[in-house]
Amino acid sequence: MNKVPAMIRIPENPRTRFAPSPNGRLHMGHAYSALMCLHLSKGGEFLLRIEDIDLGRRRQAYVEAIFEDLAWLGLTWPEPVMFQSERFDVYRAALDSLRKMGVIYPCWASRRDIRAHIESLGRLSDWPVDPDGALIYPGLYRDIDPGRRRDMMWEDTNYAWRLDMQAALALAEQKNGGPLTFAEASTGEKNLVDAGVFGDVIIARKDIPTTYHLSVVIDDADQGINLVTRGMDLQPATHIHRVLQALLDMPEPVYFHHDLIRHDNGERLSKRAGDIGFASWREAGKSQQDLRHALPPPFGA
Ligand code: GLU
Repeated sequence: MNKVPAMIRIPENPRTRFAPSPNGRLHMGHAYSALMCLHLSKGGEFLLRIEDIDLGRRRQAYVEAIFEDLAWLGLTWPEPVMFQSERFDVYRAALDSLRKMGVIYPCWASRRDIRAHIESLGRLSDWPVDPDGALIYPGLYRDIDPGRRRDMMWEDTNYAWRLDMQAALALAEQKNGGPLTFAEASTGEKNLVDAGVFGDVIIARKDIPTTYHLSVVIDDADQGINLVTRGMDLQPATHIHRVLQALLDMPEPVYFHHDLIRHDNGERLSKRAGDIGFASWREAGKSQQDLRHALPPPFGA
């Protein structure tokens, strides 16, 4: 990643947030992240936001478990808590602005179509992949004739919206008056935004007018977040987020991407793998203090 020397620090009046998705129980990685948010919010404010745009995986029981687990950890947050599932109209309006700017386009290709296309080029083995391991989109529906595109949208509404990343970054940099960067307080550096990291990423799905990328930047701006605290696994997504912020005239927050907690074998903890939940700590009669001690610095050993 291209870095620019800088002296990035945590803002003086930090306003940060913990933003879990209620599609599983929280695990030790979340405990670390939530405590890190609280730690960095000293002298400022800590907010909780429920990122529940994935209505198929959202469970009310997980929402309640998040409140319970975080309260057990000793966290408090201002009410009312923001729920992304209540904000689809806001996301739709932002999507509409991006459409008017000409930086997004509809795409009908499934993951299988994309793979088949790259395979037909004989390039499957050396085709670039994004940080999530998905093949970079080969631009299938990017440059089609506008008239034909209109007809297709009329005939088949089953499409997602992709960001035309080159065009979006060019316009974002024009609005910004120079190269786009993101400020990383965990290293003190500024990182140059790179359009190639995710390529033409999907920012709205067929069934909902958003994805994580679009809603997270809108909500951080609407909640006045000046410090985004989250795991290092989400750092690559910041390349997309800065482009969207510049396009949508949103203020630029400082980022703090913290290390991830891993299993002893180096694998990441995940909700799906059923990793050690808070609940098992509580049921084992352990205290919040015991849990803190089990975490890496600045909390435990
Ligand atoms: N909702 C995301 C997650 O649970 C976190 C988003 C963020 O902090 O930007 O992984």
